[in-house]
This record gives sequence, structure tokens and C-alpha cells, in this order.
Amino acid sequence: MEYAGRLEVVSGWLEERGLDLLLLMDRANTRYLTGFRLNRAASSCLVVPRKGPPVYVVAQLDLERARRDCWLEEVIPFPEDVPDHMAVLAPFLSGARRVGVERGLFSLELAERVSRLAKGEVEFVDAGGFLLELRARKSPKELELLREAAAIADRVMAEVRKHVRPGVREQELVGWVEYLTRRFGAEGPSFEAFFMSGENAWLPQRVATEKALAEGELALLDMGAVYQGYCSDLTRTFAVGEPAKRQRELFQVAREAQAAALAAIRPGVRAHEVDQAAREVIERAGWGEYFPHITGHGVGLAIHELPILDRSSDYELSPGMVMTVEPGIYLPGVGAARVEDMVVVTEDGCQVLTSSPRDLV
Ligand code: ZN
Ligand code: ZN
Repeated sequence: MEYAGRLEVVSGWLEERGLDLLLLMDRANTRYLTGFRLNRAASSCLVVPRKGPPVYVVAQLDLERARRDCWLEEVIPFPEDVPDHMAVLAPFLSGARRVGVERGLFSLELAERVSRLAKGEVEFVDAGGFLLELRARKSPKELELLREAAAIADRVMAEVRKHVRPGVREQELVGWVEYLTRRFGAEGPSFEAFFMSGENAWLPQRVATEKALAEGELALLDMGAVYQGYCSDLTRTFAVGEPAKRQRELFQVAREAQAAALAAIRPGVRAHEVDQAAREVIERAGWGEYFPHITGHGVGLAIHELPILDRSSDYELSPGMVMTVEPGIYLPGVGAARVEDMVVVTEDGCQVLTSSPRDLV
């Protein structure tokens, strides 16, 4: 089973590092290893001890479902009204000296509690980086789920496109996105979708407002779906009414920048080279300063993961990695243009997973 194989790799890493145990609480990591879906408001903790079987700690309310659905033998509860995994972890922590945690998530408060339960000085070792690395290359099964997440986003985009016209509020369009995302089989949106138009787009706002779309504006919808834990991410640019010549030019450059980045993706290439390919196109057009973000990011169980296509990243791409490619230009007085697609790195290039029409319509 795929989960067991993943856990074996994690146990090997723990052994190598000489850790007494791992405490994993990041939602993407726990789902990667347990397969268990949690409510977004719920938390859990996967304990991987050096000796003995792994133990999954879930809220009392999730216990029955977890025992039924989760492949792990050991599932124990913590009381729902006391959101504290720690008390039930006492037997695992007693005497522990080296504990692996997700540094980005592990708070000072948790560190103090763990130290108290360990009854002595504890050295914390980051396991988050290792897990991100492990999750970066997707298995065929994961790719299948990512393809489905991408397909749902495409379907939502096709429907929402029909509602884009002068007078419709940004909020309203995002309402459609949220409804349709679930309607088409997703667990929910992969992040807070936004539709931004006109001035809101070149600012850029990154939230949908009460503003109504007006004739002559460019507008941008960024959204995604979660399918069986896996995220998609898709952006399209719309012209409300007939676009002006300069708006067409802007859009054309954004598309060419994306095409250049896509052409640069293949195994062995460094992340910054892909970023550079997109950036060059926009700089050549004289709009370099209006491209204020990264070219793309990995997608999987989390909406942002490795690799990050950034000018400072030396990360090497390899087959099975899935990422977005989304250079954008936000030009005051004219509009914003960005086309975002998801791709998987193949043996000799990349394959695009999202397939919504890319033209400015
Ligand atoms: Zn996006
Ligand atoms: Zn994105």
C-alpha cells in the first residue's frame, strides 16, 4: 500500500537522524501518511516513534471514522473540548531527547509542553523540510488525483466564464466558484478564490469585493479545487466588453511569458531558470517592474509547496513534480493579465494538466 511505503521512508529518516520520535501536525503531512481527511477546523497529530507502531491522535469526534477509514492500527483520541494532543502523548514523550517536528508549525507553547512531558531537555529537529521534499515528486496515483482536481477547476472556469459581463459583482462570481467547486465533486476550494477587475486587478487586491464589473476592464479569476486532498490552481484573464489595443498587448505578453516558462520546464532545469524565462519576456516588453511575484509554485496536498519557481531558487526539477506557471503583469491604468496553468514534469519536458481556453474573451 502506498501509505505504508511512505511511512517506511519517514521511519528510515527518523532512524538515520537518531530521533526518538516524530510529531507531525501539518494537515498535508498527516494526510500524506494516514490518508485521513479532516474538517478544516480540526487538528490531529501523527506520532512516529523509533520503536513500536505509529499512532494517530485525532479528536474524540473523529475517532470512529478514523478507526474505520485510516489504515493505521493505532488510533487514539484527545478530548474535543480540550484541543490538546499533548496530554495523551505523555507515554510517548516521557524520556524523549530528540524530537522531530514541523518547524514552521511548531509553536513555542508546544515546545514547552513537550519538554515538560519529556521530563528533561529536548532537542527539536525540523522534519518539515524533509517531508516537503518527499511530497514534491508525485506518484502515478497522486497524479491521477491532481488531474481530477485540475479537471474540476476547468469545469468551474467554463461555467463561471458564462457569467462574466458588465454589472456583475466580483463577490457574486466567487460565489459561483465556491458553489460549483463542490457541485462538481471537490471537497472544497483549495484557497480563497478571488475575482478582481479593473483597478482592483492592477492593485492587485487578491480578494473579491462588492465592485461590479464595467465595460472596458480586464478582470482575473484565480481559483482551485481540492479533490481527495489534492489541490488545483487555475487563473484566467477576461476582457469585459471589447478590450483596448493596449490591453490586448498586455495580455499577449503575459501569455508569451507563460509559454516561455513552459518551454523551459524539463528535468535537470533549475527553478530560477524557469522564472528567468518568463521574466525576460515581460522585461523585454518594458513591464518588468509590474511583475511583482514568483513565476509558479508546487501544488499537491498543499496549495503552495515545492518547487517554488523563484529567481532565487536553485531547486532542480525532476519528473513527477507538479507546479503552476503563472507570470502576471499588473499595469496601472490598463489592467492585469495573468494566465495560470498546472503542469507535471515529464521525462523530457512537461505536460499541462489544466485545459481551460486561454484566450482573452
Ligand atoms: Zn492561482
Ligand atoms: Zn498559484
